[in-house]
Amino acid sequence: MTVHIKKPNFKCSECEAIFIPYKEGIKCPKCNKEVKEDISEYLDFIDEITGSMKIHKIHYGQYSPDAWYVGSMSDHIQSLVFQTFDSMEHDLKNGKEKEYLSNFINKIKWKSEKSDHRYLKNYVKEIAFEVLDIYKREKIKSIHPSIRDRIRMLLRQCLP
Ligand SMILES: [Zn+2]
Repeated sequence: MTVHIKKPNFKCSECEAIFIPYKEGIKCPKCNKEVKEDISEYLDFIDEITGSMKIHKIHYGQYSPDAWYVGSMSDHIQSLVFQTFDSMEHDLKNGKEKEYLSNFINKIKWKSEKSDHRYLKNYVKEIAFEVLDIYKREKIKSIHPSIRDRIRMLLRQCLP
C-alpha cells in the first residue's frame, strides 16, 4: 500500500522552477522570489510525508516501498525523504541525525546530463529537518510492522 501525496506541481512565477511551497513565507529555492500565491493546499505537505512514512513502515518495514512511481515533484521529494530516512535508520546508531541527513542529501546526484536540480539540495534538506522534528516527536523510528504484515512480507519474498 503506497501513499502518494498527490500535490500538484507548483511553478515559480519568476523562474518557473517547480517545487512544493510547504510553508508560509517560503521563497523559491532557485531564484529566491517570495511566493505570494495562495498555497493553503500545500501547507500539510510535511504532515503528509510523515503520515506516508508511518504507513509504509507498517506495510513494508521501511519507508521506501518496493516500487515507487515518480510522476510529480511531490512524488520525487517523498522518494528522496524515504531513502534518506531508511539509510539513516540503517546506519546511525545514536544522535547526530541532522548531520547524517545533511551529509546524505549532499551526496545525492543532483545534476545529470538531462537535468540540473542542484538548487533543490538545501530545499530538500530543510524538508528533511522538518520531517525529523515530527519523526522524533512521534517516535516514528519505533514503528514496526504488525505480525500479519511481517508474514505477508515473508511470503512475498518466498513465493514466485
Ligand atoms: Zn524562482
